[in-house]
Amino acid sequence: MKIEGGRLVGDHVDHVTSPNHGETFANGGPDTLILHHTACASAASAVRILMDPQRQVSAHLVVAEDGTITQLLPFNIIGWHAGRSAWADRTEFNQFSIGVEIDNPGRLHQRDGRLFTWFEREIAEADAVQGVHRNESASSWWHRYPTRQLEMVEQLCQLLVSTYSVRYILGHEEVAPQRKVDPGPAFPLDQIRSRVLGDVPSPSTDAGTP
Ligand SMILES: [Zn+2]
Repeated sequence: MKIEGGRLVGDHVDHVTSPNHGETFANGGPDTLILHHTACASAASAVRILMDPQRQVSAHLVVAEDGTITQLLPFNIIGWHAGRSAWADRTEFNQFSIGVEIDNPGRLHQRDGRLFTWFEREIAEADAVQGVHRNESASSWWHRYPTRQLEMVEQLCQLLVSTYSVRYILGHEEVAPQRKVDPGPAFPLDQIRSRVLGDVPSPSTDAGTP
C-alpha cells in the first residue's frame, strides 16, 4: 500500500468521490488523524451515507471489517467528519485532519442477557468487549474490532504519518467529548498512537479540552 498524489494505492483499496467536502488544506496540509467508528450496519452503508449530498458528512477513508478500504476524498481536500471539535488550543478539526472511519456498530445494549447493536442486530459475546469509555465512569459493552481491521488501521496510520506532517492521532471522542464516543474502548487508540507516533504529550498539559 502507498500514497500517490493524495490517493491511496493498493490491492484492497476502492475509490469513490464524495460530494461532501471543503477546499484544499491550508499551509502544510493535515497534521492530525481523527479516528472514528461508523456506527453503521456495514461499511457499504457507511459509504452510502458519506456520499449522500443531503447528509453533508464525509471522511477520507472507510475501513471495512475485513480490512478493505474505500477512499472517498483525496488527502489534500478537507472532509466533513469532525464537526464541532476542540482539543488543546485548536478548534474545528476538519481543517487540520484526515478522517478515518472504521466500520463498527459501536456501543451494544443488553436485554435478557443478550447483546444487540443500536439497530437491533444480535451480537455474540465473542464479538463483544466490556469496557469503560474514557469519557465515562461506568462499564458498558462494545462491538469488538477484528484483528485484521485493526492491523489495517495501524498500517494506514503509519503510512499517513510517514507521508504527511502528521503529529497527532486523536479519537473523535477526544476532540468532541461531549457529543461523541467513537472509536470507543474496544479500540486500542492509546496503543496504536504510541506505536505509530512514539511518546506524545498529553492533551491535558495544554488545557482547553473540556
Ligand atoms: Zn466520529
